[in-house]
Amino acid sequence: MTCAQGGRQCILLVEDDKVTREAIRSILQDAYVFVEASTAEEALRLLRQGVQPDLVLLDVRLPDMDGYSMFERLRNEGFVRDMLVIFLTGQWGEADEARGLGLGAVDYIRKPVSAPVLRARIHNHLQLKRHRDMLLDLSHLDGLTNIPNRRRLDEVFARQWALAGRKNTPMALLFVDIDHFKAYNDTYGHLAGDDCLQQVARVLFGSVKRPCDLVARFGGEEFVALLPETDLAGAWNVAERMRRAVEALGIPHASSPVAPQVTVSVGGCVCQECGRFLAEAMLACADQALYAAKSAGRNRISMHRLAAAADGSLQCQPVEPVPGPSKEPGKD
Ligand code: GH3
Ligand code: MG
Ligand code: MG
Ligand code: MG
Repeated sequence: MTCAQGGRQCILLVEDDKVTREAIRSILQDAYVFVEASTAEEALRLLRQGVQPDLVLLDVRLPDMDGYSMFERLRNEGFVRDMLVIFLTGQWGEADEARGLGLGAVDYIRKPVSAPVLRARIHNHLQLKRHRDMLLDLSHLDGLTNIPNRRRLDEVFARQWALAGRKNTPMALLFVDIDHFKAYNDTYGHLAGDDCLQQVARVLFGSVKRPCDLVARFGGEEFVALLPETDLAGAWNVAERMRRAVEALGIPHASSPVAPQVTVSVGGCVCQECGRFLAEAMLACADQALYAAKSAGRNRISMHRLAAAADGSLQCQPVEPVPGPSKEPGKD
């Protein structure tokens, strides 16, 4: 949950002195969104709750912790990767400054603050951060379809996997593969093939609605949907919604023996206690399911369940769809 709003970046100000807080806020608040904390613990609580500032202005002297220790806490908890830290200090010593910068803070600002200097420094740092974020976003997008790419999938998958293991929640992963796409390219040409990929990506992307769901281009004409906290019934619903959405595009595919239009096959894997297995096992299981859907005639879904057998070995077994109404993961 980023706290940035309407293009304005977000600053978390951690400062116990109320007068200083007000002074800094009044200098910067027309350009940035502010979140404030007067102790280190309060700031950590906000970050753990998911507040994601672009920059933390961190007082070196806080009532419950010194700024350097706080910085180390932030780094150990993995927050520093995505945000900048600037120290605010009343004392000005070369050793202090070197220590803060050595830890990885991008700057040191002296109190009492000078309005024009503060404004200029913050602007420069946050402008660089904005460019860095834009490049990072681009590096996570597939150039052809403009949806998340394999690199993004790997990152999100690792995070969601760990979370599912900790919370003991189910998870589902779908492989979506265009049927007879080689024949499509051979018939209509590669440019038409690219156009088809873009259309398919768009409707697959539109088929999931939860913020934690991810649809990515896995490579070639294969897509992956990662669905955290989704059980068999939910996974089946999303898979069927995707299959139908592609069919409904009605892209002619004269050389397909399956249907007159472009279709997809979906192989899904669901697991209940995902943390017990390796993420690779889930990909392999979904791949096995996709192979089953292809062998069974294409333009269909095959769902497998990944589970540990009594002897501890992994099993990836086909499962039937759950009959009747089910909780639709995309609808809440
Ligand atoms: P199946 O139904 O078994 O999935 O058959 P298929 O022809 O779709 O599968 P196959 O793996 O044999 O061929 C995939 C084709 O996808 C081969 C390649 O020409 C095409 N392809 C992969 N990436 C792109 C791309 O970026 N653009 C275009 N136009 N085609 C691509
Ligand atoms: Mg202080
Ligand atoms: Mg393929
Ligand atoms: Mg294919």
